[in-house]
This record gives sequence, C-alpha cells and structure tokens, in this order.
Amino acid sequence: MDTQVVSLDPAAKTMEVRSQAGGDGETLAYDYLVLAPGAVTQPERIPGLADFGLDISSRDDALLLKSRLGAITEGSVVVAVASVPYKCPPAPFEYACLTDHILRQRGVRDAISVTVVCNVKFPMGSPVVESALLGVLAERGVKYIPFFEIDSVAADEHGRPVVQGHTPEEASKPLPADLLLFTGLQRAPQFIFDAGLTNPKGFVPVDLLTNRCVKAE
Ligand SMILES: Cc1cc2nc3c(=O)[nH]c(=O)nc-3n(C[C@H](O)[C@H](O)[C@H](O)COP(=O)(O)OP(=O)(O)OC[C@H]3O[C@@H](n4cnc5c(N)ncnc54)[C@H](O)[C@@H]3O)c2cc1C
Repeated sequence: MDTQVVSLDPAAKTMEVRSQAGGDGETLAYDYLVLAPGAVTQPERIPGLADFGLDISSRDDALLLKSRLGAITEGSVVVAVASVPYKCPPAPFEYACLTDHILRQRGVRDAISVTVVCNVKFPMGSPVVESALLGVLAERGVKYIPFFEIDSVAADEHGRPVVQGHTPEEASKPLPADLLLFTGLQRAPQFIFDAGLTNPKGFVPVDLLTNRCVKAE
C-alpha cells in the first residue's frame, strides 16, 4: 500500500517501485499493466497561484478552505478554472454554490462577491447544461466570466491578493480575490511523463474503445 512507482519502461515492460518508508527499490516485470495514477496539479505554471490559491482537488486545501470560509467577513471570493480538461467538471460550480450558501448562512453574503472565471466559454456539457448552470449561478448572484486567462496572482500594496488576467476584450483585467479557489493545470504524474506516454497536453492518449494506451503499443 505504501509503495510508489518511481519509473516505468513500456518497451522493456518493467517498472521500478520503492517503499515510501525507504530502502532499496525493486524492479517488477509485467505482461499487462493497468495504470490508474490519477492526475497531478501544477499550480507553479501560473506565477503566484500556489502562494495565494487553494486547489479544490486537494484534501489539505479543502480543509483550509473550510476555515477560510468560516472567517471571511468582506471582500471577494473567486473560483477559477485555470485550464481544461480538469478533474470533475461540475466541481467549480458546486464550490461556488456552496460558498454562496455558507456565506448566506453566516449572514455575510452581502459584503462578499462570488465570481467564477473560466479560460474557455464554458467547461462542460451541452448548451442546455451551460444555460441551466449559468441560471443557477445568476439566481445566487454569482458572476461568471468566460474566456478569462489567468496570467499571475500577486498581492497589491495593501497585501490583498489580486488575480491578474485577460479576456479577448480586456488585455488586463485585475480581479481582487480575498479567497481564491482554483482547478485545472493538471497532467499525468511525472513517471508517466518520463515514460513518454503523454500527449502535448500532458495526458495519456488511449483507444476510446479499449482504454489501451496508444503510446505503449
Ligand atoms: C472536488 C472533486 C469532486 C469530484 N466529484 C466527483 C463526483 O461527484 N462524481 C464522480 O464520478 N467523480 C468526481 N470527481 C472525479 C473523481 O474524483 C476522479 O475522476 C477519480 O478520483 C479518478 O480516479 P482515479 O483512480 O483515476 O485517480 P485518483 O482518485 O486520483 O487515484 C490515483 C491514485 O494513484 C496513486 N498514485 C499516483 N501516482 C502514483 C505512483 N507513482 N505510485 C503509486 N501510486 C500512485 C495516488 O496516490 C492515488 O491514490 C471529483 C473530483 C474532484 C477533484
């Protein structure tokens, strides 16, 4: 259970594993390999994001978010889809609605804006789903900004975090974000990348009928 795959050689059909407790590694040979290591998030791809943002796919950050949402009394909450594809397309909208709900319960919603930004027009589903979800956000007073690319995140002169971004219409669009949640910037883990199994987006291309990794054939 505590064993990590540290490298993979698809041509030789071997993998090196090592106990997280330390000690020597071991080479395992395989005839068939089922790979399911999930995706890793790389916030460092946007300057400042790791310093100011909370990753909604991270358990540790979810716990931090709980305490930050319980403490914020004014300002702005931004939920950002930094890139697509990402784990769980509805999650940013769920987080925005939960944020709205918690802030209303605490009686501070009027003093805090909630905004969802996304680097594409809409990250999931059909136009019907898009229209329904945008309606849900509008009902709750949550603003949605499509085609918002995040360039960096930094503190202003008062120490307030500001997301610096741009849209097709505005070359510079700063968004204050007293609380910044984000998703996206994900790709396959390093050992998959090192094994040469990824496409330019950092994911593993598969045959959609069999789920076989086409780069390992
Ligand atoms: C906030 C959020 C909400 C979601 N809600 C839903 C939902 O409601 N419904 C739904 O269907 N899906 C939901 N998802 C998506 C769902 O969680 C993922 O699709 C699913 O967890 C992917 O499973 P997986 O096994 O491929 O990867 P993971 O669950 O990420 O598991 C990968 C495992 O591989 C291990 N691993 C990685 N690298 C190595 C290595 N080198 N050596 C050994 N082990 C390694 C990891 O430690 C991890 O245990 C949600 C995701 C998020 C982030």
